[in-house]
Amino acid sequence: MESHQRAAETHIIALPFPAQGHINPMLQFSKLLTSKGLKVTLVTIIDNELTKAKHGSVIVDSISDNSEENGTISTMEEYWKNFSSLIERKLSEIVEKQGKSGRPISCLVYDSIMPWALDIARRLGLAAASFFTQSCAVSAIYYHVYEGRLNIPSEQTHVSLDGMPPLQSYDLPSPACGSEYSPALISLMTSQFSNIREVDWILVNTFNKLEAEVMNWMASQCPVKLIGPLIPSRYTSKRLEDDNDYGLSLFKSNNNSLKQWLDSKEACSVVYVAFGSIASLEEKQMEELACGLEKSNYHFLWVVRESEQKKLPDTFVNETSEKGLIVTWCPQTEVLAHNSVGSFMTHCGWNSTLEALSLGVPMVAMPQWADQVTNAKYIADVWTVGVRVKVNEEGIVTKEETEMCIREVMEGENANEFRRNSEKWKTLAQEAVSEGGSSDKNVEKFAAELKCI
Ligand code: UDP
Repeated sequence: MESHQRAAETHIIALPFPAQGHINPMLQFSKLLTSKGLKVTLVTIIDNELTKAKHGSVIVDSISDNSEENGTISTMEEYWKNFSSLIERKLSEIVEKQGKSGRPISCLVYDSIMPWALDIARRLGLAAASFFTQSCAVSAIYYHVYEGRLNIPSEQTHVSLDGMPPLQSYDLPSPACGSEYSPALISLMTSQFSNIREVDWILVNTFNKLEAEVMNWMASQCPVKLIGPLIPSRYTSKRLEDDNDYGLSLFKSNNNSLKQWLDSKEACSVVYVAFGSIASLEEKQMEELACGLEKSNYHFLWVVRESEQKKLPDTFVNETSEKGLIVTWCPQTEVLAHNSVGSFMTHCGWNSTLEALSLGVPMVAMPQWADQVTNAKYIADVWTVGVRVKVNEEGIVTKEETEMCIREVMEGENANEFRRNSEKWKTLAQEAVSEGGSSDKNVEKFAAELKCI
């Protein structure tokens, strides 16, 4: 009874980085924690009608970004400075208000790419958890770079790292395929480890069996807890109330008949194509992709965000309207869970990768930058759930390559193996988040420890 009363009082703040691929897992984790009796306030600088909607029992509190009042932000450094002071002001307000109303905040769970949030937590007298939204393998690579054991880009053709398969230099995280290296990005990513020894918990959105070897190595360096896959519980055996989708989507779909369209297709007959919320393809690449999809002759559902639509070849939309559907956004997990979807052509963002693995969908990996290239390596060579496209000397994936890769995953000689492996990972992902599974136990333990603060 006593512990139940204490549980009801435990209140934490969740602080995602304001991008879709960071908000989704943090919101999902917040929902899980509320299901374990905690109160969670998720703070975001995004302020629109969506942040005001109901998200299970998670309270969403938004800050309006006053960067315009402060003049134009020209450098990355200025952006972070402005952003962190906005956050600190907001968090102080919440901590003070909740303290007075008898629901004091005890912990800040922050996105690992904002390590300065740990200092804010300490100034406010809070415990702190760093929340990693990339794979354990990618985290380990950044950690090696941080510790000075590895350079990226690497001059070595083969890199051998603990708990990982041999990696080629093109398997290591990069700012953009074939582009100049950006030191700012790598310093942002390695800074995730700058104060890792001082934080109270390190949480990673992945699961033990998916990354067992590298997880063991990471655990020998710092106490990581794997808590994923954080996908809407509708697709797991641990269904939470009111949890059909992530919830806080920053994009809108322009199509209401998507479900009907998918329902009208045969099982495993559709190629779903999407490149997440940030990646932007060159016009030439869009053209090759469009032609490749057309030539493959499969039904396709292609997400082309509004800002990318102008790059679509003029005639393509009309010519392929029988075969394909182009939308500006869609509920991706719902699409991947639909039985008409036979493969996922993806940019290999970590959430998209985990969603496909958790829902048993084979992939055509077409990574663009950052951790996506490493995820693509794992998709093709470690988890063996699909193929990775090859780029030509101009950095383009040609229509012929697109068609060939789609055929290979949909009907090629390894298609059955990809499907079998996808089903295997789906089962293991489900097990991890089910009652008593490895990730479920870690979340349970985290919640229990919070209740004892
Ligand atoms: N997503 C979605 N609808 C779309 C495209 C993407 O809901 O049409 C979601 C997807 O399910 C994932 C997130 O957006 O949860 C994208 O995150 P990811 O890490 O895959 O890529 P990023 O956007 O960070 O590059």
